[in-house]
Amino acid sequence: MTAILRADNIQKVFSSGGGLSFGQLKQEVRAVDDISLEVMKGETLALVGESGCGKSTFGRLLLRLIEPSAGRIVFDGIDLTTLSHEKMRAMRQKLQMIFQDPYGSLSPRRSVADIIGEPLDAFGLTRSKREKRERVADLLNQVGLSPSAMDRYPRQFSGGQRQRIGIARAISLEPSFIVADEPVSALDVSVQAQIINLMQDLQKKKGFSFLFIAHDLAVVRHIADRVAVMYLGRIVEIGPKRSVYNAPQHPYTQALLSAAPEPDPDRKASRIVLQGDVPSPTRIPAGCSFHTRCPIAQDICKVERPPLREVAAAQFASCHFAKPKPIPVPA
Ligand code: SF4
Ligand code: MG
Repeated sequence: MTAILRADNIQKVFSSGGGLSFGQLKQEVRAVDDISLEVMKGETLALVGESGCGKSTFGRLLLRLIEPSAGRIVFDGIDLTTLSHEKMRAMRQKLQMIFQDPYGSLSPRRSVADIIGEPLDAFGLTRSKREKRERVADLLNQVGLSPSAMDRYPRQFSGGQRQRIGIARAISLEPSFIVADEPVSALDVSVQAQIINLMQDLQKKKGFSFLFIAHDLAVVRHIADRVAVMYLGRIVEIGPKRSVYNAPQHPYTQALLSAAPEPDPDRKASRIVLQGDVPSPTRIPAGCSFHTRCPIAQDICKVERPPLREVAAAQFASCHFAKPKPIPVPA
C-alpha cells in the first residue's frame, strides 16, 4: 500500500492573551504536538479522542485550512506546506472536508443546486447551466437524494439529508482525500448508520482516502481500517483496527474502549474509570501527558515522555509499560 498523504512532525501552537492588560499572561496552547503519520491510498484512518484533544485542528492542518507552526504535509508527493496560495487553491480539488454540523456548514440562503454546484463553478468543470444541473442531479442520486431536491433550501431537509448534501458537495470534485470531522455526531443514532454506510459505499466506488474524526470508538468500529488515538495533541496509539480493538496497548485506549458499548458481552472488559478531567492544553503535564489520569502510572511517567514504538505488527503505542509482543522466530 502506498501513502496518499504524510504528516511529518506536525505542530500547531496557538498563542492567546499577553496583549492588552499587564496582568494577563501570554498563554500557549499546544493543540497538535509533533504528529507524524501516513494515510494510505483508499484507506479509512479513524482519529479518535475526547473533545478538545486537537483532532479537528489536526484534520484542518492536513488540508492546510490552517497553517502548521512546524512540520510538513506531503500529499501525493507534493509538500503542501511550501505551496503558494494559488497553487494550494488548485490542490483543493483533491482535498475535501465534510463537517460535523450540516446545519452550520450549508448556507441557508442558497439552493441545493448552488451549494453543490459552487465547487464545480469554482474549478470551471461545467460549461453550461444545463450541464451543471445534470451534474448536480447525478451527485444527488449518488448520495441517495432525489434530483428534485436541487431547487430547495437546506432548512427544508432533515439533519441526515443535509449531511447527504454536504457529502455530495465534498465528492463533487472527485477528491482523493477527505477529512470527515465528526460527520455523524450531530445526527440521531438511527440516522448515523445510514450516513456511515453511504460514506463507505462511496469510498468503495471512488477509492478516496478518509481521515474520519470521531470522539467515540463505537462509531468508527465499522468504517475504520486503522485507528489512531489522540490525547492532548499527541497520538498515543495507532494501528490496524482489529489490533487496537482486540488488544489495545495504551491505558488510555483501554479506558476509551472499556467505556464504549461492546456488542459481544463475553469480550466486555470491566470499565476503567479515569481519574479527573483532561488537563488544560495550556498546562500539558510533563513526562507522559496522561500520567495525571493513568491507573498504572509510575514515577518514571512524570519525567520521561514515552516514545511511540511498535508493540505488535504495525501497532504503535506510547507507554513505558506497553509490552512489545515477541516476534516469532522461524524454526
Ligand atoms: Fe500510564 Fe506511564 Fe504508560 Fe503514560 S507511560 S500511559 S502514565 S503507564
Ligand atoms: Mg472537534
